[in-house]
Amino acid sequence: MTRMTPLLERNERFARTYAPAALGLPAAQVLIVTCLDHRVDPAIVLGLQLGDAPVIRNAGGRVTQAVIDDIAFLAFLAEQLFGGQDAADALFEVAVIHHTQCATGFLADPGFRHQAAEATGRSDAALEASAVADPYATVRADVERLLTSPLLTPKVSVSGHVYDIATGRLATAVDARYPGRARRG
Ligand SMILES: [Zn+2]
Repeated sequence: MTRMTPLLERNERFARTYAPAALGLPAAQVLIVTCLDHRVDPAIVLGLQLGDAPVIRNAGGRVTQAVIDDIAFLAFLAEQLFGGQDAADALFEVAVIHHTQCATGFLADPGFRHQAAEATGRSDAALEASAVADPYATVRADVERLLTSPLLTPKVSVSGHVYDIATGRLATAVDARYPGRARRG
């Protein structure tokens, strides 16, 4: 008996009626980047089904170098596997979702941040940069960071959204845009 036991039972019920999704482009043609917070599960909040959308999660839903690397790999994979179908068209939209009441917001407090730096071995500056105190500000910054990355293919668009823990509503903060805006007119 472990804490996984009830979840394994839920999986058993799930597997009884399970039908595997074929490998293909994500059905929703969206890739989600969001916080690992258990109150912000995109499958539930956005009603995603299996095969709809890849999801990358970290503390805050921040666009880190690791996230950019994963997106670049997924875009490469999509292009290699399915690029022949609509070579001129978009592969998918990256939707960056930050949220209110994010626990990374505690890192805006210098005392808390100092303790966190000692506990995790990360620098004070890195922790300060990772804080989501104002989700509208950080989501704009992260959309910009992704759009200006040389690793992002012009076939991927990027949008930014804020999820409100209090209401369950998602608001679009940055409309979907392609890198190198002049390219797409
Ligand atoms: Zn969060």
